[in-house]
Amino acid sequence: MKVAVVGSSHGGYEAVRGVLQQFPDAHIDWYEKGDFISFLSCGMELYLQGVVKDVNSVSYATIPEMEDKGVHVHINSEVTNIDPDGHKLTVVDVQNGQEESADYDKLILSVGATPFKLPVAGKELQNIYAMRGRDWAIKLREAEVKPDIKNVTVVGSGYIGIEAAESFAKAGKHVTIVDTNPTILGTYLDTEFTEILEEELKANDVDLRLSQSVKEYVGNSDDKVTSVISTTGDTWDADLVIETAGIRPATKWLAGIVDLDDHGMIKTDEYQQTSNPDIFAVGDATEIEFAPTGKKQLIALASNARRQGRSAAANLEGHKRKTTAVSGSSALHVFNYKFASTGVKDVTAEGLGVDVESVFVTDTKVPPFVPAEHNAEVFFKLTYDPKTRVVMGAQIMSKMDTTANINAISLAIQQHMTVDDLAYADFFFQPGFDRPWNIMNVAAQKAEQKLD
Ligand code: FAD
Repeated sequence: MKVAVVGSSHGGYEAVRGVLQQFPDAHIDWYEKGDFISFLSCGMELYLQGVVKDVNSVSYATIPEMEDKGVHVHINSEVTNIDPDGHKLTVVDVQNGQEESADYDKLILSVGATPFKLPVAGKELQNIYAMRGRDWAIKLREAEVKPDIKNVTVVGSGYIGIEAAESFAKAGKHVTIVDTNPTILGTYLDTEFTEILEEELKANDVDLRLSQSVKEYVGNSDDKVTSVISTTGDTWDADLVIETAGIRPATKWLAGIVDLDDHGMIKTDEYQQTSNPDIFAVGDATEIEFAPTGKKQLIALASNARRQGRSAAANLEGHKRKTTAVSGSSALHVFNYKFASTGVKDVTAEGLGVDVESVFVTDTKVPPFVPAEHNAEVFFKLTYDPKTRVVMGAQIMSKMDTTANINAISLAIQQHMTVDDLAYADFFFQPGFDRPWNIMNVAAQKAEQKLD
């Protein structure tokens, strides 16, 4: 069997691994339009903050490693067309424009997404960057050490925006975050958490300009950006802008080849099969089932792309494995705070069309007799369906690392557990690690009291 995989990021990498494991005799052609394989944008922050020194190490695998496994790796090779009936790909060498045709029996697309570029006046000015992929990682790192870049504006306060803001603030730049939402991290956390994190950002000299967007970028005679004008009429200095205001699927070229939805997302079933039975699709160009609602939506995470990649590979010769529903579990730090969240939040419930109730609890990580240098306050919120009592989501935050609790809640959501199941669930106790009642028990017990 000849398997072609397009795209070498998370989804493509996992698809190749899966095919190697499931079909050791398959001939695998792996196409990537860039000049590098399997760069992890997830690791970009560690590179920007100097924890990881070599940008090339931020990857899953090298070309020689994959070729040793028998994979035929084609870099600088953009797949521009598919003839599904003839099982042929058009592949363009991006360095010299030469076009060639290649055969496949089964095709896995993990073409991902590209950063959304704001359609505002001045958008063509220099020093307006994005944050995705190796090329931008290198450019951003160079900008961090340029002394003439003093004021940095980050557009968007989602995960990527926060990573950009913290990295540039730590590099000594004055950072401004602008966001249309009234809070930072608007789809990840409720206000009990964002209020604390907003203070944390301000304490680290990050300015917040919320409930407003960019109206215009202003430049100088060298065509370099110098300031930002916002929709509220405010103006501030900016020598560098980093746009992190969402992504768009890289799928225009697939129109008419496989079914796309109105947003250009590739339609797949739970086996990652597209409208063409020999073409599979995974990753940020597809939707995935959201466990709390059972409906499909875009949840652009590497963890999801890898799950889907593994499913696609398993299903090449028949339906073997459905992709597991996910809850959008993710974790991040904002200077001294570490947080994680999963599932539905109060702030996202209405948009998801679900009716939820929540309890918010605070506790210390370990018993209060443990001194402050080994202890910290923990904030936890549990969200559930008040009619069925089923767990729908949770958020946790502390200066110590408590994020792993969210994986337990993700499992609870997946298994449709109720607050009653969680209230007395068995979690370990050891004073160096935890309290006799884990904070998940505490919150679920409070939810039971509220419901009864
Ligand atoms: P992409 O990563 O978009 O990759 C697509 C690849 O396909 C690219 O290499 C592209 O060049 C190639 N390609 C596209 N079209 C073609 C074509 N026609 N021919 C040949 N090649 C093509 N997720 C997490 O779970 N945890 C994190 O901590 C996390 N941190 C992140 C931090 C940042 C800064 C960013 C930007 C994202 C982060 N994510 C994180 C999200 C995660 O990176 C994405 O969900 C993931 O990269 C999606 O993988 P993908 O394979 O769908 O596509």
